[in-house]
Amino acid sequence: MPSSPKRIIVIPPFCKRSLSRTAKVGYMETRPLTKILVTGAGGQIGSELVPALRARYGAANVVASDVREDVAARLGDDGPFELLDVTDGAAIEAILDKYGVDAVFHLAALLSATGEKNPPLCWDINIGGLCHLLELGRKRDMARVVYPSSIAAFGPETPRDDTPQETVLKPRTMYGITKVAGELLGDYYFHKYGLDCRGLRYPGIISAEAPPGGGTTDYAVDVFYAAVKGEPFTCFVREDTTLPMMYMPDCLKSIMTLAEADLADLKHHCDFNVTAMSFSAGELASAIKKHVPGLEVAYEPDFRQEIADSWPRSIDDSAARAEWGWRPDYGLDAMVKDMLEKLRKKHEEGGLP
Ligand code: NAD
Repeated sequence: MPSSPKRIIVIPPFCKRSLSRTAKVGYMETRPLTKILVTGAGGQIGSELVPALRARYGAANVVASDVREDVAARLGDDGPFELLDVTDGAAIEAILDKYGVDAVFHLAALLSATGEKNPPLCWDINIGGLCHLLELGRKRDMARVVYPSSIAAFGPETPRDDTPQETVLKPRTMYGITKVAGELLGDYYFHKYGLDCRGLRYPGIISAEAPPGGGTTDYAVDVFYAAVKGEPFTCFVREDTTLPMMYMPDCLKSIMTLAEADLADLKHHCDFNVTAMSFSAGELASAIKKHVPGLEVAYEPDFRQEIADSWPRSIDDSAARAEWGWRPDYGLDAMVKDMLEKLRKKHEEGGLP
């Protein structure tokens, strides 16, 4: 059989740096983000990512969306909001048309603990929603599809300390399975179709704005609420359970920096390890007790202990550091101080759930 003719693209040397090569597509440039859709915007991360994106790209250029109607009251005043179920591809397409969206930050998902209560629904939302967005991104030649993976992509066979970038991905939760599949799908769409997909494996995220949505690291946020309200806290993992974590300002910084990074610098796309700190549940309680000496913590592990035990204790994020300059700003003590200040202020204003 005659071999197919080779397509030769001559790139002037001055523009090589901003171009990236995919095997099947040829050279690609880093395109700017102009009209952004955020899915799952009412959750723990979206509640703070939407204002940050609006500050950077202009409020009118960031469309917040969620399946929950109550989110409109929080995110619909400063910029556009749309009610959107990501399992409905036609509804996504109508919103992309309406606003001329060219980039998506896709946050809608069921998290680890909630996902284990209804695994088929977890697959439908996490993978069904992502597949719609990737197909629409490809067909409409969108500039970017950005979405988080998670340390849940790892499993009990993964090395648990300083977990490498390239390692065993055999999770035992449906959530983790959707995260591995999501990473692979994004890389597939990049290499096959030239769709610029990017993602990072978030550790547990700690924040003061919106409560977490049913993950295995929720205890690391809930303990702050108990401390500020002066209530005893029952932790659902053992005192010695150590997991990688990140404070919300670093969570926002990491996803926004990755989204804007020069494509030519990226060797990885949808699976960057990132971390900021690692601590045990007991170490967190001790750090909070420096400010709230009366805090009482009891440890009563439930089904989430097994999930936590299958995840890394610490992460090697050297690829993210080398390829797009990742550096966290917050460690344990700085995060604890800032969390307590923010939650105390909310409590005084009567705003704590
Ligand atoms: P969250 O549970 O707080 O928020 C998820 C949002 O998605 C909710 O507002 C929910 O209403 C919405 N949603 C659920 N089903 C939907 C559907 N069918 N259509 C549209 N919206 C729907 O989650 P989060 O913590 O903000 O997480 C955002 C992303 O970051 C997820 O992909 C998650 O896996 C990832 N992540 C989060 C953490 C963490 O600690 N928070 C850690 C690792 C990865």
